[in-house]
Amino acid sequence: MHIINPATEEIIATIQEDSMDSLAIKFTRLQHAASAWSAIPLQNRIDIIEKFVFLIKENSEELAAILTSEMGKPLQQSRNEINGAGAKASWLAQHATQYLTDEIMSLSDQLTEKIVYEPLGVICNISAWNYPYNVGVNIFVPALLAGNAVMYKPSEYASLTGLQIANYLIEAGVPEDVFQVAIGEGDVGKALLDLPFNGFYFTGSYQTGQKIYSHVATKMVPCVLELGGKDPVYVADDVVDVVAVAAGIADGAFYNNGQSCCSVERIYVQSAVYEEFVQAFVEEVNSWKVGLPTEDGVYISVLSRKAQLDVLTSQVEDAVAKGARVLVGGKRMEGKGNYFEPTVIVDVTNDMVLMREESFGPIIGIMRVEHDADAIRLMNDTNYGLTAGVYSVDQNRAEAILAKVDSGSGYWNCCDRVSAALPWSGRGHSGFGSTLSHVGLRVFTKPKAYHLRK
Ligand code: NAD
Repeated sequence: MHIINPATEEIIATIQEDSMDSLAIKFTRLQHAASAWSAIPLQNRIDIIEKFVFLIKENSEELAAILTSEMGKPLQQSRNEINGAGAKASWLAQHATQYLTDEIMSLSDQLTEKIVYEPLGVICNISAWNYPYNVGVNIFVPALLAGNAVMYKPSEYASLTGLQIANYLIEAGVPEDVFQVAIGEGDVGKALLDLPFNGFYFTGSYQTGQKIYSHVATKMVPCVLELGGKDPVYVADDVVDVVAVAAGIADGAFYNNGQSCCSVERIYVQSAVYEEFVQAFVEEVNSWKVGLPTEDGVYISVLSRKAQLDVLTSQVEDAVAKGARVLVGGKRMEGKGNYFEPTVIVDVTNDMVLMREESFGPIIGIMRVEHDADAIRLMNDTNYGLTAGVYSVDQNRAEAILAKVDSGSGYWNCCDRVSAALPWSGRGHSGFGSTLSHVGLRVFTKPKAYHLRK
């Protein structure tokens, strides 16, 4: 399999894809190693994960360069991702004892009731490329902490990073047979679904998630799907610093070239502040440096997948055909590399593809609304339900709106944000099941209830 740099279009590596036979061998190794791994004291597994965090931080320059070379995010954003993923992994390690240790629920002279968090066994993690460290650690770190063996399939657009993750986990002390990497494209992911894993954990698109869920449903093992989004924010008329709000939301929409599951993908602005907001937003977008991901100060660089250029072009064409106006950008850039101009579109409606389908690129639609009730209706007018945000000086007003929006996360005066302490979950086409927080540690276990009568 050729690994292609999306900025230079050069082949930077050629690696061996897995076959059905090699996957079966890796699976058997995992199966044999799983029980010994779960039998070691939890504290040892915690120490190993802490060592892994230390190692990826210590080697973050090398790892950031690899990540940028294969998926094209600006180098500083690669560094940020590695640091952020390290912090999340640390949180999970530091809370593993609290949430994975046996719990005595009631104790009397006659009867003890306790919960034991048994590992599932061997789990399969099929992963995405946009934040390979961030979305990876959400799964393999708690899975390993809980005592599972892991088959990790990085995206074909982040395979070199996947192999580096394995190197550093093993250097940190994870036995090689406890963490195996499956290399390849969608067909390799599909082949994994036929192996008898004890759980399937997927991060990727709704389209693939749907296929995976229907394929594994009959196995009767846990399946968690972290899928795409069409995340809205609403700017209410009482915001004070419109320029700062616009800059914050622009970052939420365009960071990582808009290729985040929780990128802001739709903006609704109340009439009283609409003109000022749009002007400030456009100024912010025009201030960014576009260029090679390795250049200092670049904020917008290439898309990881060439095919997405056509998706964005057709979203612009559909919006313009239905009456929208392009204020900034609007087309792919000439020359080498998967560049698309940062694009701001106004006069949009919710029947435009731009406001319905995940864009996953540097493009955003901004719409004027009159009342909170309109904003709530429009925010809910989607099949997705990952995150939603409200900007307002009034916390009560914001929370009242967020309570009526069907999404896994709600943001007040912030957006495009993930916390290790809070469950990360989608609704509808954004998936189901949670990672992170205590929920995301226990999601890799089978809680067993003991009723112990003397
Ligand atoms: P994708 O669905 O194209 O691929 C994801 C993974 O699935 C890859 O490893 C791929 O090789 C594999 N795959 C493809 N076809 C398969 C099949 N038939 N069976 C099994 N595996 C298969 O998604 P992507 O382009 O890698 O990632 C982008 C998507 O992921 C976006 O929709 C984004 O919103 C979503 N995402 C969600 C979260 C979240 O936490 N909710 C986080 C990151 C990304």
